[in-house]
Amino acid sequence: MTTTPKCPGCSSEYTYEDGDNYVCPECAHEWPMLAATSAEADSIVRDAFGNELKDGDSVTVIKDLKIKGSSLVVKVGTKVRNIRIVSGDHDIDCKIDGIGAMQLKSGFVKKA
Ligand SMILES: [Zn+2]
Repeated sequence: MTTTPKCPGCSSEYTYEDGDNYVCPECAHEWPMLAATSAEADSIVRDAFGNELKDGDSVTVIKDLKIKGSSLVVKVGTKVRNIRIVSGDHDIDCKIDGIGAMQLKSGFVKKA
């Protein structure tokens, strides 16, 4: 079931869908559905420069990253292929040559 959002004009809950728009029967306000689906926008992961990252993207590390519990360091400029977006503090799941599977923060990478 889909629930319609409240009317941005009068906060009525009795809105309905009409084609690509939502319509409020109380104040006759109409607005596009795309703008209302902000839940999707919240889950977008961006790199340090604001580029959107998606599953399968390649990124470059922009900062030396020490790996907790080891002496390994992921050097600046390391290329990481085929990332996977996950939720959490470290929002990128990936495998790095010579290091193995690990998680990165999207703020420390740049889309390649
Ligand atoms: Zn309204």
